[in-house]
Amino acid sequence: MELRILGCSGGEANGERLTGLLVNGCVAIDAGSITGALTVEEQVKIQHVFISHSHLDHICTLPFFTKNIFGHTHDAVEIHALPETLDVLRRHLFNDELWPDFSVIPSPNDPTIRYTDIEPERAYHVCGLRITPIRVNHLVPCVGFKVEDEKDAFIFTSDTAETDRIWEVANATPNLRLVIAEASFPNEQVRLAAASKHLTPAKLGAELAKLQRDVPVKIYHLTPGDRVPMLPQLQALRDSRVSLLDQDERLIW
Ligand SMILES: [Zn+2]
Ligand SMILES: [Zn+2]
Repeated sequence: MELRILGCSGGEANGERLTGLLVNGCVAIDAGSITGALTVEEQVKIQHVFISHSHLDHICTLPFFTKNIFGHTHDAVEIHALPETLDVLRRHLFNDELWPDFSVIPSPNDPTIRYTDIEPERAYHVCGLRITPIRVNHLVPCVGFKVEDEKDAFIFTSDTAETDRIWEVANATPNLRLVIAEASFPNEQVRLAAASKHLTPAKLGAELAKLQRDVPVKIYHLTPGDRVPMLPQLQALRDSRVSLLDQDERLIW
């Protein structure tokens, strides 16, 4: 499996990129950075996009992506998300007001994108991968994902406050190679973290106590201006599994 990090807020590079992963060149997980990180040639190879939730930093390049691939693909690209998330995309984004409705362009029978409902805990088989959404605890309906091929697995928690199920799933995945987890605000902003359903480094520490696996845990979603206070707070966890996810990281198993 090849996992390419297209963007993860809080990365060191100038020009912030937002959340997005690419697996085997064919499946995008979240769409915060597709068009910023990939050439059009690479974008055209994406056949499936799994969206964790409707917040802008996870979907904002979907419109430009649909425009870029228009006319270059044989089949519609499938946009997989919870029904509540797809509803937001339909009503507030691809509504002909903010962006044309590419689910009926060029025609309803031959669209550029197709919406597909997903259900937590059900496995979806695409591009030789098995992708299982796991519900997490965020301000809007949100899922993390377990992504597996026949050999290896990784887990992306997406945005979440305190949660249990995704850690149970991680503990029950024998071939787990990596967890990508969030920490969004420094410890001093615990009230903001609670109100927006995110984690601070201290809260992440409590979450990681639930993870009984010795695998790398790469942290994403730091608010860029808060890197300086957050780095020592992450180090203070004294958890050797923890490091920051790098915007352009490529992981191959
Ligand atoms: Zn969010
Ligand atoms: Zn986010």
